[in-house]
Amino acid sequence: MSGIWVFAEDLEQSKELLGGGRELAGKMGTTLAAFARDGDLARECIRCGADEVFLLPRLTPDQPLEAYVPVLYEAARREDPDVFLIAATPRGKEIAARLAVRLDTGLCSGCTGIGLDGGGGVPEMERMAYGGAAIQQVRCTTRPAMATVPLRTFEPAAPEEGRQGKITELEISPCSAVRVIGRAPRQRGSVDLAAAKIIVCVGRGFEKREDIQLARGLADVLGGEVGCSRPVAEELNWMPEELYLGISGKKAKPELYIGLGVSGQIQHVTGIRDSRVIFAVNRDENAPIFEAADYGIVGDLYQVVPKLVEELKAALKM
Ligand SMILES: Cc1cc2nc3c(=O)[nH]c(=O)nc-3n(C[C@H](O)[C@H](O)[C@H](O)COP(=O)(O)OP(=O)(O)OC[C@H]3O[C@@H](n4cnc5c(N)ncnc54)[C@H](O)[C@@H]3O)c2cc1C
Repeated sequence: MSGIWVFAEDLEQSKELLGGGRELAGKMGTTLAAFARDGDLARECIRCGADEVFLLPRLTPDQPLEAYVPVLYEAARREDPDVFLIAATPRGKEIAARLAVRLDTGLCSGCTGIGLDGGGGVPEMERMAYGGAAIQQVRCTTRPAMATVPLRTFEPAAPEEGRQGKITELEISPCSAVRVIGRAPRQRGSVDLAAAKIIVCVGRGFEKREDIQLARGLADVLGGEVGCSRPVAEELNWMPEELYLGISGKKAKPELYIGLGVSGQIQHVTGIRDSRVIFAVNRDENAPIFEAADYGIVGDLYQVVPKLVEELKAALKM
């Protein structure tokens, strides 16, 4: 067997990989297969474009997700897929690296796009290099061509009622030298930037932590969330690290991104460039953010934002 395989931790991630995988499978004229940990997820993967789903054996409570590496390895060795896409979550990256070593094959980490090279129909992957300043094209000459794919790279596949596919139970035992000795929920805020429709982004153009209130005021009027650039989170510690956008932070595709006092360096823009509309306020007319922006105001955010909020409130009759 050949084909495109995808492995993700949950349904949302699987839908994205299936969306990208379906397109590639269509171009290559091959099948699409996914892995699932229970029957419900398996059936949903089929509705979302998988032709076959491999049902993984259950893990014991002390087994980490990486215990699936031998299972995935045996399946790949036996079935010989063309391409193997894995969601680039912290656990997914662990699994992909271990699997690529065992399979003695190439792995494109942080793959941001995948197509076929003009002549030979070989999968060609793209990834950011040099902190986002260049795009690297990777052609894997060994099988399978593996890649870890960051979330929000592909459009999620839409479920199709009545779609049929095959479910195959895998009987290989999961195994890992690592034992889970305890689990605790991660402390995180309630903001999910990746799902936000409107994001107001705080840049280093803000002078004081308290001034972030200005951005919150604008986000509240628009029903949006507040994110930030990396230095606002990592250097100034004004906002949690899970709220910074960019190549090393969160990637987001909101309907509207508003950058306030954000210079728009490539590492930041990489995380937001797929926003439907980008709007920026910066007092420097040469700030790179204006190259990425659809609309912009050259001005002092401390003057512009209160006026914007006032005008919006009047327009929205708030
Ligand atoms: C490997 C690597 C990875 C990185 N990853 C990320 C990442 O994921 N995300 C990220 O954000 N950065 C990332 N960076 C950092 C990135 O290169 C920039 O340094 C950072 O994005 C700059 O943040 P900023 O725009 O808030 O600050 P600055 O670059 O300092 O820009 C502040 C802007 O505010 C404007 N300004 C100042 N005062 C006002 C005012 N009163 N009104 C209006 N405008 C004003 C200025 O004109 C300026 O343009 C990375 C860097 C490296 C090397």
